[in-house]
Amino acid sequence: MAVERGVGKCEQNHAGSFGYPTRPDAPYDFCPQCGNPMVWDCPNCQSPLPDDPGELISARFCRNCGSPYFPHERDEPEE
Ligand SMILES: [Zn+2]
Ligand SMILES: [Zn+2]
Repeated sequence: MAVERGVGKCEQNHAGSFGYPTRPDAPYDFCPQCGNPMVWDCPNCQSPLPDDPGELISARFCRNCGSPYFPHERDEPEE
């Protein structure tokens, strides 16, 4: 069953959404602000990203399975 609406973001934390009034009907592949791929759900378990705007921006890992939303996350040294 197709998802009717949802939120996502790119690696640069530019939030996006689809299915809402004034928004595209379906998820789009690339961020219009920086050109990075958009992430609409967890790459590992397909859980949707948090739809709370604040939580959406701060989230870097899936709250369901702990996987990073962006593959680069694994390579960055922890500070
Ligand atoms: Zn972006
Ligand atoms: Zn997950």
